[in-house]
Amino acid sequence: MLAKLEEIYKNRHQYAKDWKARTGGKVLGYFYPYVPEEIVYAAGVLPVRIMGSHEHDNLSAAYIYPMYCPFCRDTLAEGLRGRYSYLDGLACADTCMHMNQVFDWFVLNCGIPRRGTFIANTPANVAGTHARTYLIKEHLEFKKAIEGWVGRVLSDKDLDRGIEIMNRNRQLMRQVYETRKREKPPITGAEAQLMVLTSQFSDKEEHSALLEDILNKELPGRNRDRKTGVRLMIVGSEDDDTAFLKMAESLGVTFVIDDTCVGSRYFWHEVVPGKDRVAAIANHYLDSTPFPTKDWSERRRFAQVLKLAEEYNVQGVVLAQQKWCDPYELDIPSLAARLKERNIPTLFLEFEPTLPRAPFTTRIEAFVEMLCGDEEGLFAESSTVKSGS
Ligand code: SF4
Repeated sequence: MLAKLEEIYKNRHQYAKDWKARTGGKVLGYFYPYVPEEIVYAAGVLPVRIMGSHEHDNLSAAYIYPMYCPFCRDTLAEGLRGRYSYLDGLACADTCMHMNQVFDWFVLNCGIPRRGTFIANTPANVAGTHARTYLIKEHLEFKKAIEGWVGRVLSDKDLDRGIEIMNRNRQLMRQVYETRKREKPPITGAEAQLMVLTSQFSDKEEHSALLEDILNKELPGRNRDRKTGVRLMIVGSEDDDTAFLKMAESLGVTFVIDDTCVGSRYFWHEVVPGKDRVAAIANHYLDSTPFPTKDWSERRRFAQVLKLAEEYNVQGVVLAQQKWCDPYELDIPSLAARLKERNIPTLFLEFEPTLPRAPFTTRIEAFVEMLCGDEEGLFAESSTVKSGS
C-alpha cells in the first residue's frame, strides 16, 4: 500500500488524466496550499498541486531570471514541457512573489484555459486585525468564481462535504505521523513525505482509503529490524526531494518529523466546523501554522517547530532552503538560535532541483558524526554548515 503511494507519485500526471477520464470532472492545478481545497472538493473538482520533476531544466530561463528559486524554475519547466496540459484551470493564493510570477507564465504559456484562472489572495499578515474579514471576502469571491466555472451554486451541504474530505485526510495523516514518535518508527521520513505529496496530487477520498489500509494493515510490526539511528527533523522551504531523504536515511538517520509545506504544515490543523462554512474555512487558513511570508509580526511557526522537535525527541535539525528563497532564508538565523538554546544542533543545506549526491552525503555524514560525538563538540558554532561552502 505504501508502494501504491510511490506509484501515484511517479505517475501523478497519468493519475490526474485517468481521474478525469473516469469521473468526467475538472482538474484544478494550484500553487501552494493556501488555496482553499475545501471549496474545490465541494465543487467535485480535483485539486492538484503544481510541482517540478527534478530534471535538468533548459526551458525556464527564457521566462524567469536564474535568481528565482529552483523550485519555481523546476515547476515552470514542468509546465513548459506540456506535462500539465490536462489542467482545466489554475489557482494561486499569493504566497510568494517568485511563485506569483510562475503563475502568470503558466497562464500565458502552458495551455491553461483563460476561463479557468483563479486567485484567492491570502493576507500578508495572517494575524493582522483585518485578516479575517479580508480572507472571508476573498474565499467568498473564490467560491463564486468556482461556481461560475462549474455551473452550479455550492450549498452548505457541498461545503460540508469538502470540509469532511479534507479533515478526514488530515486526521489520518496525523495518525501516521503519531507512529513516528516511537523508538522504532514504522515509516521513514521519505515514505512520510511521499504520503503527504500524494495527498496533494490525488483524490483525497481515495488517498484516505489507502491510508486506512496502511494504518490498519501495513504499519503494525513494520520496520522492526530497521535501525532508527539519529532522529532528525527537516525544516524549511518547499523540498519535495524524496531522493535526498532516501539518501540521508541510508546513512544512519531517520527523519522522524518535519515542518515543511510538503509535510506536517500541510495537514496539521483541521477546519473547525461552524455555521458560516466559508468563515470556518478562512479561519482555518489563518489559524494554521503560517508560511514565513505570512507569519508577522509574531513568528508562530517557530513555536510549532520547537514543540514538534521536543515531542518527536529530535537530536538534530536539517534546515533546508531552496537556493534564493528569501522567505525561508530570513527565518533561518533566528530559528537556528532558538534551536541552539534548546541544545538542538542544526545543519543548513541549500537545495537545487537536482542535488549532487557526493557533497550532500558528506555533509549528512559529518553531521551524524558530530551528533554522535562528545558533548563538548556537539553544540559548537561549526555545527551549522552551509551547503556549497
Ligand atoms: S521555495 Fe521559497 S522562493 Fe521558492 S516559491 Fe517557495 S517560498 Fe517562494
